[in-house]
Amino acid sequence: MPIKRILKIVFDIDPDDRLDLFKAFPVLKTIFKERRLHASIRTFGDIIFTFIILSGLFGPQDPKKNCAIFLSWGVWWPFLVLSWFFIGRMWCGFCPFPGLGRIVQRLGFTFCRPVPKSFEKYGIYWAIGLFAVIIWLEESTGIKDSPRATAFLILFILMGATISSVFFPLQAWCRYLCPMGRMTGAAATFSLIEFRPDHEKCKGCGTFACKRGRDGMRGCPVYLGAFAVRNNLDCLVCGHCVAMCDRDSPRLNLRSPFSELILNKGRFITCSFIIPFLMGSQLARFIFHGFDVEIWCQKTAICNMGIFSSLLIVGFLYAMAFVRIGAHTFGVTEDEVFGRFSPMIPIFVPMAFAGELIYRLNYSLSNAPDFFPTLGRQFGIGPLLLLTFYIPEWFFRFIDSFIMASSAVAALYVLYRFANDDFHGMVGRSGYAVTQALIIIMAASYFCVLPIWR
Ligand code: SF4
Ligand code: SF4
Ligand code: SF4
Repeated sequence: MPIKRILKIVFDIDPDDRLDLFKAFPVLKTIFKERRLHASIRTFGDIIFTFIILSGLFGPQDPKKNCAIFLSWGVWWPFLVLSWFFIGRMWCGFCPFPGLGRIVQRLGFTFCRPVPKSFEKYGIYWAIGLFAVIIWLEESTGIKDSPRATAFLILFILMGATISSVFFPLQAWCRYLCPMGRMTGAAATFSLIEFRPDHEKCKGCGTFACKRGRDGMRGCPVYLGAFAVRNNLDCLVCGHCVAMCDRDSPRLNLRSPFSELILNKGRFITCSFIIPFLMGSQLARFIFHGFDVEIWCQKTAICNMGIFSSLLIVGFLYAMAFVRIGAHTFGVTEDEVFGRFSPMIPIFVPMAFAGELIYRLNYSLSNAPDFFPTLGRQFGIGPLLLLTFYIPEWFFRFIDSFIMASSAVAALYVLYRFANDDFHGMVGRSGYAVTQALIIIMAASYFCVLPIWR
């Protein structure tokens, strides 16, 4: 039964259609409830990250002899980006970064201060700023070739999550400050999966155990609780509340990836900078690599940093201009139910996701053939040097073009649904055509820089 139903939900694009995966596959619910598989996967992740950090700090510093580089930039990052589409924010349920903070809190080393209101208001800017710094470091400082610098970056995020646990209860870092979490949340609005409550079952609930916890067990780590989840932005899909709720309310739904974009219209993506920043930074990265700036700069760090910083700013302003002009040409920025919204943000979400996926997958696939030989060189295991393979150039070009073209079609589709459903009769013909043209120009911008990039 489910295969037909699954295909219908994914390809029929009815934003209201859902398949409750807990009902269709009860084993999934058991996994979420019992937490043993979660714990094992998390422990496995902890071991891998500990290995990356130790190998980065104390292993050989030649990137050809240290697999920590590939594990972090070639496995973890691409997996994280790919997971945005397939499982939304579910990675956060297994992420090792908050682990140390949880231990610290269990040992009682926490001031448990109320989370400042400013986190709620300005945390997003901190998260975007931090993400910008990570991208900037990644591109212009050669951190990607340095095992030690990579380990320090991971340690920095780990420390951020841990220090926040010392001052504030549960996982304030994950709710307000984590750059990866914020990007993942925004991109997960274009995901096949959502975690939601059954509001009928929540009616009259007196315990709100999903948020507050019960029987000495802590509640939702990001102060939400299943009953308050209405989008994919903040919920970590950790499933912690499944065991807390005695009314069987939480659900894991399969849906069309367009569902949230069409229904919420990007309304809850509280910051309209996230998506343009992602897109602008991708264009900047493609151009930076495409023109071999490192060679022009003769490997001078300052020159590299200066050029990449300028590209990053120009890229952001370029994408932002499309968002602003698109809002103007679309002509409707106010919704009866949701109030003000920025139509180009949900329209551009698929392209922002596609650009990041192309960038990360290319790094991963380009370096994958050297993974086992690197492992062999690092640990002196001769036979591993022979375990390599070849990926032809056409394959990269095919993947890049396929992903980008699909995302442009997806963006045009979201625009079509906006103009023909919610805002039927409100979007003028010429405004619709110009907004379409903007999407095509943005896609063309990617297509212009993609070939020179490789
Ligand atoms: S928000 Fe960040 S630190 Fe928290 S679980 Fe997600 S990725 Fe990990
Ligand atoms: S999810 Fe469960 S615990 Fe939370 S409000 Fe609904 S019924 Fe109550
Ligand atoms: S609402 Fe439930 S699944 Fe979502 S973060 Fe809170 S405890 Fe985890």
